[in-house]
Amino acid sequence: MSDSEDITVIEKFIDSLHDEIMERTNINQSVINMDTNNTGSEMSEFESESDIGQDPWQYQKMSNREENLGLKNPILIQKLISSSIGIVKDLGATRTGHLMVVCFDKHQFNQLSKLKQLGQWSVNVFQPKSLNTTKGCIYNVSLDIDETDLQEILEKQQVSRLQRLTYYDKNTKTRVPSKTLKLFFNTAELPPRVLIGFKSHKTKLFVPKPTQCFKCQGFGHMQRECRNSVKCVRCGEDHKDRECKIKAKCANCNGDHPATSKDCPKKIENEKILKQVCKEKCSVKEARTHVLKESKQNPLQGKKENIPKEHEKISLTKGLFQQLTEFDNFILLLIMTTIQVPTLPDNVQKVSVVANMVLELLGVHVNQEYILDKLTLIN
Ligand SMILES: [Zn+2]
Ligand SMILES: [Zn+2]
Ligand SMILES: [Zn+2]
Repeated sequence: MSDSEDITVIEKFIDSLHDEIMERTNINQSVINMDTNNTGSEMSEFESESDIGQDPWQYQKMSNREENLGLKNPILIQKLISSSIGIVKDLGATRTGHLMVVCFDKHQFNQLSKLKQLGQWSVNVFQPKSLNTTKGCIYNVSLDIDETDLQEILEKQQVSRLQRLTYYDKNTKTRVPSKTLKLFFNTAELPPRVLIGFKSHKTKLFVPKPTQCFKCQGFGHMQRECRNSVKCVRCGEDHKDRECKIKAKCANCNGDHPATSKDCPKKIENEKILKQVCKEKCSVKEARTHVLKESKQNPLQGKKENIPKEHEKISLTKGLFQQLTEFDNFILLLIMTTIQVPTLPDNVQKVSVVANMVLELLGVHVNQEYILDKLTLIN
């Protein structure tokens, strides 16, 4: 197997894990199911996500009521498809055994939509559910609103199902209902607002948090599925120790933070990937390619804030100093050093920063080595 084939297999595996994880993130939430169409509800809402690409109109799913077409002789299936609508762009089986057909053009797509019979099997052709649905959240929904009332009102606004999200309450040590509702819309686009009585609620796209493994700290899978070796959440070494006191080193990016830090660039990257999946309804693989390409173009975007380096801070304030007399400059220099110097970690940096300021503002060179020498005598 070549390297690139290896990667494709791994990515497919990660995508399928991702689907399962997305399903499991709902475990702790109470569900109010309004889906009266039972034929559709047995399918997981994410089962097809990994198969969907950029031009959703090209994608169709095909199923037979009794039999799993995805498990039938693939050569026979391929022949039957080609003989009825011509050679297709791509053909595959979904996790649940449906056939996923990718058409070359709209003409083929329309032909496929009308197909009722494939060889001996009568078939049902439909668009993947996730392409015509969107998930969103609304906030601040009073806890005293009756849930059947909510269902009734929201059903008229294209909501097929709703969940009141829960949170962990430290006092009672149980999960309790929150004021946030997760809404499942029957629309391809997220409606900007919904009305509950006279109150209008702004919707926000629902994006699940990235799943992080307790064992290896990696993203996109859980401990029980993990095949990697143990890595400490704090220091990244091969031990599992909640009380680890070793200096923090992230198992994912080698940064000086624990692997669960919200500032970890790898974590931020994974959050962006999930957001892209929800926004564009594409596969994790496609989302990852997009996010990585974007971060290459704007390398600073991923960082929380762009802190100017010490010398940049000084040149930022230089314009201000130029309008002042030398004596004013000296006073300001004193004040600036009292603010900045205590934040610096050691004498070398303290001296270097002050020396730079003096040079910039007063045009005088400072003998840094000499001053450092004197400082060690004082200490
Ligand atoms: Zn793992
Ligand atoms: Zn450790
Ligand atoms: Zn990190």
